[in-house]
Amino acid sequence: MRFTLILIASAFFLSAKCQSFQLNFDFSNAAQTLRWVTSPDADEIELKKLLELPSTKALQKKLRTDSVTMRQALLSVHDSSLYKPEYARFGYRLVAARANDLGRFLTEIKEREDSLRFEVEKALAHFVPKGTSLPVTVTLLLGGNSSGFTLGGDNIFYVGLQQYKNDFIGIRETCKHELFHNIQRLYRDHFSYSDQLDQHDKTGYAYLHFMLVHLFQEGSAEYVADLRKVTDPNALYVREARNQAAVNDYRSEEVFYLISKMLYEATKFPDQTKQGPLYSILFDWNWNNPGYYAGYVMVKALCAEYGDNRLMEYLQKDPSEFVYDYIQLTKKHPEKYPFAFTEEFETIVNELREELKKLPAQK
Ligand SMILES: [Zn+2]
Repeated sequence: MRFTLILIASAFFLSAKCQSFQLNFDFSNAAQTLRWVTSPDADEIELKKLLELPSTKALQKKLRTDSVTMRQALLSVHDSSLYKPEYARFGYRLVAARANDLGRFLTEIKEREDSLRFEVEKALAHFVPKGTSLPVTVTLLLGGNSSGFTLGGDNIFYVGLQQYKNDFIGIRETCKHELFHNIQRLYRDHFSYSDQLDQHDKTGYAYLHFMLVHLFQEGSAEYVADLRKVTDPNALYVREARNQAAVNDYRSEEVFYLISKMLYEATKFPDQTKQGPLYSILFDWNWNNPGYYAGYVMVKALCAEYGDNRLMEYLQKDPSEFVYDYIQLTKKHPEKYPFAFTEEFETIVNELREELKKLPAQK
């Protein structure tokens, strides 16, 4: 009996391992940057070691700078006569000022690495398609001004440690959010239709499709890594992120109206549309992320009505289906789900769905 149990347990463990991801952490940039800023006597060899790390090169790319400028910014930490205002964006002075604090935080993350991996896997493993193994590296950086980013590569993302206010839960939730984006890409290339529409001179529908993909991708990642469910009062990064987006809670109607109007305009008047500002207004932190918020509200409503399995289904479908279903739901139960898109928005979504039928089917 006991032997059978062990067998079952091992089989379960092995299958769970096969289906899930291998989550690795790369501490090299954070550790070496700390070593540099806390050692006034550090020599050229230490500096070269830091500059040549792949993780440092990634930060360099994100900051759109070169290794000569980065080197000068690092040197200016120990020699203020070398300092130029343009080095502020590297954040090295702030890292140096908080070095002890950041060192403790880095040690905490290293010590809790296994529990971090466990928590993230527990939340996401069931979304990974059976038989798929997903290797992902989380690279912890010190410097720069971003809390998290990717460089287009599917299996690596970067976390700006100094932005997290020593909040371990914040790191965990960021990992969940970003890894969910990796999982989304396992199911389908959501942007392929946007590209095809563009190639067929359906620029307006291409804009619309592109934004609906983001609405789904960000909304579902927000739903999976739901900051509203974090109750720990010491989670300072989480609290700050929630405060920043909280404004959307009392202007939900306006958020859906804004998205409706902006995307209708982009679809019907593509020649007068600028994709960069359009994206930025809907999905940028500086604009309180209305697109993230609306997407979250939509996923939450559909899962509340039809169960969490719905999210699994939407991962496999084009995001226009997700938006269509939300529109239908708000029409069916307007009291329960009062935040609706406009009628003209519904029209363009239906037109988009007709356009997509003319394109070759996706796998
Ligand atoms: Zn995201």
